[in-house]
Order: sequence, then C-alpha cells, then structure tokens
Amino acid sequence: MSPVIVEAVAAFQDNYIWLARGASESRCLAIDPGEAAPVLDYLQHRGLTLGAILITHHHPDHTGGIAALKHHFDVPVYGPAQEPIPQRTHPVAEGDKIAACGLELSVVETPGHTLGHLSYTTQGAVFTGDTLFTAGCGRLFEGTPEQMLHSLKRIAALPDTTWVYCAHEYTLDNLRFARIVEPNNPRIRARMERETARRSRGEATVPAPLSVERDTNPFLRTRVDEVIQAAQRHAGRTLTSEAEIFAVLRSWKDEVDGLL
Ligand code: ZN
Ligand code: FE
Repeated sequence: MSPVIVEAVAAFQDNYIWLARGASESRCLAIDPGEAAPVLDYLQHRGLTLGAILITHHHPDHTGGIAALKHHFDVPVYGPAQEPIPQRTHPVAEGDKIAACGLELSVVETPGHTLGHLSYTTQGAVFTGDTLFTAGCGRLFEGTPEQMLHSLKRIAALPDTTWVYCAHEYTLDNLRFARIVEPNNPRIRARMERETARRSRGEATVPAPLSVERDTNPFLRTRVDEVIQAAQRHAGRTLTSEAEIFAVLRSWKDEVDGLL
C-alpha cells in the first residue's frame, strides 16, 4: 500500500483536525472535524476533495463541522456505534475495517474519556482523539480509570514505529505534569526542551512517536517505580493496583490543571 499522508488543520484554541489520504489520492478523510471552515480551506488550497469523515467521540469540538462539510461533500460519516453522532452513516465498533481515500483503517474501542470513544489505526499511525494525548491522556468524563488504563494499554501495544495523532495541542501542559511526577527523568526534561522550541517556532508537537510516549508519558508509566512512588506520596497511602495508581495520577493532573 502507498504511504499515508497526514496533515493537521488547527481549529478552535487547540484542536487538530487530521486530514489523511493515500499518496496518490485526491480525496482525504477528515478525522474529528469540529469545524468545517479550516477543512474546506485546506481542501481548496490543495485542490483536494473530501472522501470520508471519521469521528472518535461525540463531543462538539470533534463533531461540530460535520453538517457543514456534508453540505459540500456527500461523504460517509464513520463514528462510534455507541454514541450519538450527527449525520453518522456508518456506525463502527471494535475490529471493523474502513477502506477510504486510499487508506485502510482498523477500529479500536478506547473507552474512558467517553464510553464509546474509538481510535483508528492505519499503517504507522493511530488517531487517538481525546484518549491518549501526547505526554498525557484525556479526562475521565464518562468512563472509569480501569477502562481508560485498558484503552491506553491497547494503544501502547501498537508497534514502536507508530505515530500518535491526538486531537489537541496539550503537550507542554502535559510535560509540566510529567516533570512533577518524575523530576529525575532526563527524557522528560529533554522532551520539554525540544517541544518548547517547536512551540516557540509555531510548530505542532503532534504527532509523536509511540516510543517517545512510552518513555515520557506518566499515564503509560504506571508500572515504573518512580511513578508509583510519586502517586503513593501524593495519595498519602499505599496503592496496590495499577488502576489505583492511574486513578491517582489522573485526579492529580485534574487538580493541577490550569496551575502549571
Ligand atoms: Zn472530548
Ligand atoms: Fe476534545
């Protein structure tokens, strides 16, 4: 199969809408188009058309542009069977395959942020919506810590060469938290420097290689001694399961959000 082309379109404050296609394709699929205008601009400037819409979950910053895009392009809309998605034509679930725009994608159920949240994998890429963020993970709006931990583990089990395409630019915030959890991890410090430089040049820090996530994302490191000890210190008690450690990290991050 031909290589994948994936490009970002920025929306709202910090959302990324991903546009993906096979190398010889003039049709793209749009993942989580919360807004239509930036997608339409992108297509027009490159002489491309829309071939499909993929949705990870029902939040408006991921679905708000569907109606306006459908007005211009009568394309299939794939989305979680378990969630209300406007104008969805193809409800999809675990293990389903999607062939569109020269790509073949697999559906992975990744509940936690929402109960029906899906991620989509294709050659060398995973579109994680608000589940795995670069250096962090989504908030638990609907699911349990156990569900989110399991979802993150499924994503983390993909091949090392996979790139993580999440739906928000949260990397620096997430790394500030990672540094509190693991102040002695040199890879977190190095990544912080690297990503800070990219942001100051106006560049996106997404996508990131899964291997980098494993080394620096505290939510993928719930079995690392330093992380366990930091979570226990924060909780003020002994934590006996990985899900408990994850739950403490997630609520700790919620506490410090906006303060870092
Ligand atoms: Zn969301
Ligand atoms: Fe979101």
